[in-house]
Amino acid sequence: MQRTIAVLPGDGIGREVMREAVRVLKVVADKFGHEFHLNEGSAGGAAYEKYGAHLPQETLDICSASDAILFGSVGGPVSESTLPKWVDCERNSILTLRKTFKFAVNLRPAKVYSGMEEISPLKKEVLDRGVDMLIIRELLGDAYFGRHEEGERNGVRYASDESEYNEDQIKVAAHAGFKAARLRKKRLTSVDKANVLTASRLWRKVVKEVSSEYPDIQLEDMLVDNCAMQLIKDPAQFDVIVTSNMFGDILSDAAAAIPGSLGLCASASINDQGFGLYEPPGGSAQDIAGKGIANPIAQILSAALLLRYSFAMETEAQAIENAVEAALKAGYRTGDITRSTAGDTTKNSTEKLVGTEAMTNAIIEELEKTNAKSGKKEAVATA
Ligand code: NAD
Repeated sequence: MQRTIAVLPGDGIGREVMREAVRVLKVVADKFGHEFHLNEGSAGGAAYEKYGAHLPQETLDICSASDAILFGSVGGPVSESTLPKWVDCERNSILTLRKTFKFAVNLRPAKVYSGMEEISPLKKEVLDRGVDMLIIRELLGDAYFGRHEEGERNGVRYASDESEYNEDQIKVAAHAGFKAARLRKKRLTSVDKANVLTASRLWRKVVKEVSSEYPDIQLEDMLVDNCAMQLIKDPAQFDVIVTSNMFGDILSDAAAAIPGSLGLCASASINDQGFGLYEPPGGSAQDIAGKGIANPIAQILSAALLLRYSFAMETEAQAIENAVEAALKAGYRTGDITRSTAGDTTKNSTEKLVGTEAMTNAIIEELEKTNAKSGKKEAVATA
């Protein structure tokens, strides 16, 4: 299969981890017989230096001519935040892409990889049940896009943010939820506040209507307050969660804490045509930029999501995820995901502290063992 990917590394560690994700994509292309054309574009401070804009038209043209966008991260050091190069850098880059391509849903997986339980804030008994969920957040409705008003009535200040949903917006999110569940354990939890909010009642009704097209998926409704509690008490019960913009904003960040590091989380924003932007949720980490120690896993997992959701390459996506899991199981750790980072001072002889490139080498080594037909690891003969 031939596909074109717009590659926007951005700033700071964005450049370093993107280099590694590209190496992984090249191995996947070789192994599975694909041709990925990678078109690099500038974004963030790097683009500002060259074009005087954080997301120049040249970059948008590259994105429009591609089948998907792989994004790194943008932004400068806090000490330079008032320089024109960095002012509104993240907003100008990412929001412009969101608006231009009308990304309608955001997907955030949260998984605790085996061997990584020590760095999760949750108890071992809770994690032993297996945490592997996907949170889908609607992106174009809710209070973020309603009328915002601030004023004074009878000497009392007030502020209001109107929250509205129409059925088309809900349908797009619901279909994304059911389709994603089909690729996983076939369970969808729709989260709302239907006991109080009118928009939530419409949400629940429309999701139920859409469910008739997916008889193979088990749907349950859950109130958002209960969902927040369940994410901490028993996250293993969830497969796919679909929810509105604000609830998703909050729940996906809560869920991202469970794996123990942002360096292990990927994210995807997709429009109703299946065109998507794939990026790690973390920033440009200027404190460690240029040192070769950044964790490349979030960027590599973002590339896996790109293959799954924009190119329908499920086997290839799983091969990357399995390789990441195997490298972690073998003990490879960048500085942000060691047990000592999580406050554990007991010695763990299985941990091998490595830098950005060596972590990717370990992942690629595992990927090379994958059978290109099944996506599973080939049995390795031992002496
Ligand atoms: P950050 O996410 O860049 O870093 C927070 C902490 O996490 C730092 O200690 C950093 O070293 C660590 N960290 C982040 N990613 C890591 C990785 N892959 N491996 C190892 N450690 C990692 O947040 P920040 O320091 O508040 O922001 C730095 C810049 O990034 C700012 O300019 C901010 O505006 C920008 N930012 C951009 C995005 C984006 O591009 N989507 C998101 C958040 C922040």
